[in-house]
Amino acid sequence: MEKKTRAVKIGGVKIGAGFPVAVQSMTNTRTSDVKSTLAQIKRLEECGCEIVRCSVPDMDSAAAVLKIKRKIKIPLTADIHYDYRLAIEAIKNGADKIRINPGNIGSAEKVRLVVEAAKKARVPVRIGVNAGSLKPKTTYRLKASSGDKTADKMVQNLLEYIEFFEWLDFTDIVVSLKASDVPVTIMAHRLYSRLKDYPVHIGITEAGTELSGTIKSSVGLGILLNEGIGDTMRVSLTAEPEKEVYTAYRILDTLGIRKRGVEIISCPTCARTEVDVIRLAGQVEKMTINTAAVLKVAVMGCSVNGIGEAGHADIGVCGGKKIGIIFKSGKIVKKAAKKELLKYFDREIKKLIREKGK
Ligand code: SF4
Repeated sequence: MEKKTRAVKIGGVKIGAGFPVAVQSMTNTRTSDVKSTLAQIKRLEECGCEIVRCSVPDMDSAAAVLKIKRKIKIPLTADIHYDYRLAIEAIKNGADKIRINPGNIGSAEKVRLVVEAAKKARVPVRIGVNAGSLKPKTTYRLKASSGDKTADKMVQNLLEYIEFFEWLDFTDIVVSLKASDVPVTIMAHRLYSRLKDYPVHIGITEAGTELSGTIKSSVGLGILLNEGIGDTMRVSLTAEPEKEVYTAYRILDTLGIRKRGVEIISCPTCARTEVDVIRLAGQVEKMTINTAAVLKVAVMGCSVNGIGEAGHADIGVCGGKKIGIIFKSGKIVKKAAKKELLKYFDREIKKLIREKGK
């Protein structure tokens, strides 16, 4: 059951109110290094990232927002900690959204100045509450409980900030409740979504390396999305940002929420395996990671069972001792020597994408 949230516009992307869950990522270049940041955002755009967040830790980075904004297609969120002047400068330079944790901006007056600047520029603000940096005391009286003390505190902090923003007559709000603990994150979101309807940015913070981060995010974000919670998402990984986007789409695809890109199905290998499937699947994943077309691609370890087991795939490749097989919807389309297999497979995938595009 989708939780009803209100719509918020981030540049040209609308979230909340039933709009598709927007996939975002974050650059890991120095934002002040415009050239490297632009190159990374271009790569993110190519793999389907819909909103990009850049850290703005200093005035050079805030100034860089202006130059970056001119050359990118997707909306840019400026991530600010501690210094309210950076937020105001980033807004002035065209940031499409600001992310702050009001708790570390300092006085209420400084937060007010950021909110006033955002209001004037019609830029939404994400109130980002993090379990690791909660205010020890809040004035907000929580009338319900999530069942967990930390989750309660997170929501309490958030509602206090929301109340302040509303008092300033500002409702162009996105919220986030992040913790590295998955059950705490889930409990906090469940409680919040019973109480308020500002759209939610979901993510598991400090999720970890590619493998453990993917597991944590898939479980945490998967549960939330399945309950209809989450209007935009970021998968945090200690890996290239493109992998975050890929993983986010895979989570959405697995839940049947949004489809984009290639789903790789590969066999677990067994005594019949005639090719290094782990390596081959890795190569195929690399080859197709930026593909927007919705395709099921199989990588199988033998020709005896491979085609039969992956007959439902749009296209697949089966290893062989010397000769490999490429098949489409269960029918063989090409046999090729092992060392040329990938070259032909790439050609066949491109052909299929062209045909699908017609
Ligand atoms: S496709 Fe072949 S190699 Fe892979 S698990 Fe099935 S039988 Fe084994």
